[in-house]
Amino acid sequence: MSRFLSSRFADIEPYTPGEQPQDMQYVKLNTNENPYPPAPGVIRLINEAQTSRLNLYSDPTVEPLIQELARFYKLRPGQIFAGNGSDEVLAFAFLAFCDRERKVCFPEISYGFYKVFARLFNLDDARAIPLKADFSIDPEDYVNCGRNVVIANPNAPTGLSLSVQQIERIVKTNPGYVVIVDEAYVDFGGKSCLELIEKYDNLLIVRTFSKSRSLAGARLGFAMGAEGLIEDLNRMKFSFNPYNINRLTMLAGVEAVKDRTYFEDCLKKIIKTREESALHLMEMGFEVLPSKANFLFARHPALKGEAYYRALKQRGVLVRHFAQPESIANFVRITIGTPEQMEILLQKTREILHQEG
Ligand SMILES: *Cc1c(COP(=O)(O)O)cnc(C)c1O
Repeated sequence: MSRFLSSRFADIEPYTPGEQPQDMQYVKLNTNENPYPPAPGVIRLINEAQTSRLNLYSDPTVEPLIQELARFYKLRPGQIFAGNGSDEVLAFAFLAFCDRERKVCFPEISYGFYKVFARLFNLDDARAIPLKADFSIDPEDYVNCGRNVVIANPNAPTGLSLSVQQIERIVKTNPGYVVIVDEAYVDFGGKSCLELIEKYDNLLIVRTFSKSRSLAGARLGFAMGAEGLIEDLNRMKFSFNPYNINRLTMLAGVEAVKDRTYFEDCLKKIIKTREESALHLMEMGFEVLPSKANFLFARHPALKGEAYYRALKQRGVLVRHFAQPESIANFVRITIGTPEQMEILLQKTREILHQEG
């Protein structure tokens, strides 16, 4: 830290991304990427001709992408906002809607960035609400809470999800506040509350291309909600970085949305692999939370989370381990890979249980 850093950031604790090792080849099951490549159209389109146009600025309205998303989700273009990853969309939402008067709350165990944004934007009295003993979110904690709400549904890293009715109750009982539902994983079997956005002007749904659309490296996310909320997000964007989506990423996004068949096939494969992997882990004695996401959150009574993570890494398999908070320290989060990758994970796990269990 230099002596020039503003004192308001002196004690900020930045988000720690999962490891992205660039050296050795791991079976990489640690950051919830999609194991399948982007849709064929994406790969075809990002060619020499498109790359040679990088001398020109990108389209600040991102019109073609917004149009394509509007068609896919049967919305009006004014109900959609696109960002440089959903992390940026979430940052703009925190910036636009939260302050000392309009406080925010979110689950204590959830996507780590919510806490970081709360700190970055000086929301000192952001409230982190504990999960229930079974690691689920208690919707009653958010009913009538008199704050903005941020909820990941399905939640991370648990994979557990709330029903549309439960979310609706939160939205309906907090009409003076924005309820942000981060649906990063919803395509893997959760229920989206998209149908509610026509009915409530305080619901903002955030999605990403990083998981279900195989574009983590392109950085693309979006939000869907009432036109007023979308205007507010655009106000943030045009005050910060009007060209937030680069040319190649916009093209990639359009092509990914166009190919519904490829999208649905990938999802089907991942869901099938998830269910099979969960069964195999349970057969070995793991407790596996019922996941609606592209990962499993699991623990074994005879194996400490940290030890399991390390033993897998030694054997070339990367998973995610959270040392804090203590209540989840014995879990690991395992991204669903291809059947072949999961076979390696299961094989190495059997080996580890034999040696260390
Ligand atoms: C991965 C993830 C994000 C971030 O996605 P990007 O679009 O890659 O920035 C946001 N929220 C949750 C819950 C996630 O798991």
